[in-house]
Amino acid sequence: ASHLGADPKIVRRLSSVSNIILVLSGKGGVGKSSVSAQLALSLSSSTHSSGRPIRVGILDIDLTGPSIPRMLGLDGATVKQSTDGWVPVYTDTTQSLAVMSVGFLLRSRNDSVVWRGPKKNAMIKQFLGDVRWGQLDYLIIDTPPGTSDEHISILEYLRTFNPAAVMVTTPQAVSLADNLRSLDFCRKTSLPLLGLVENMSGYICPHCKDCTNVWGKGGGEALAKREGLHFLGRIPIDPGLVRVLDDAKEDAQQIVSQLGETSLEDGAIHK
Ligand code: ADP
Repeated sequence: ASHLGADPKIVRRLSSVSNIILVLSGKGGVGKSSVSAQLALSLSSSTHSSGRPIRVGILDIDLTGPSIPRMLGLDGATVKQSTDGWVPVYTDTTQSLAVMSVGFLLRSRNDSVVWRGPKKNAMIKQFLGDVRWGQLDYLIIDTPPGTSDEHISILEYLRTFNPAAVMVTTPQAVSLADNLRSLDFCRKTSLPLLGLVENMSGYICPHCKDCTNVWGKGGGEALAKREGLHFLGRIPIDPGLVRVLDDAKEDAQQIVSQLGETSLEDGAIHK
């Protein structure tokens, strides 16, 4: 691929990444980070068509609320600086899931990041240019809610890498203008949307296994249909979701298999 005009440091780091997927949501609290984490976990536990494990990286650029370390059980982990850049944190010894988050750089998990635009932009540039990911099949990027400076910066830096996006919503947020703004952002920036995930879609009672539609259901699918998007599936409210590493792989597997139908391997999302 031609990376004419792109930052050379970023080109050096990301040329070995086959697919870049940004996870977006119109507003906060809908489960964007949870979906990013599950997607990354699920992909990293699957195998490539050649039989080798799929290599995945997750980059958390939700600078004001980095929750990926906690979700992956990596709270307190630190990023090491090597002579060849930042070494990401790995979730296991097989190194199939590499994680980078601003959360690893904060002294305490309760520290907050209050940064103005230029500093955020510099941080994002550094994340893209300084992390030693190595070969990756997928880089999942958990972005802040809405469409902010961070989205604009990252898309500028990634323009020549042809990223794609997945959007997360909840049934009660479906009709909100925030969603439409995010969709509009994708269109204006020519960011291809792989599809929509409806999270917190109904509650399955652990005792009777009946599904209660707390906030309604099906809105995500209707929105997808109306906007001509692929509907990737729904994830029910699961009190155990916080234990992402142990329990929540099944739903993600479903999403991934549906993503698979849109053929995600080897850069296919770019076509
Ligand atoms: P966002 O990234 O959109 O702000 P998060 O992924 O941080 O949202 O989710 C917000 C909170 O809701 C978290 O505490 C998360 O564990 C919880 N959560 C997300 N999705 C679900 C779900 N399907 N079932 C139960 N809790 C969920």
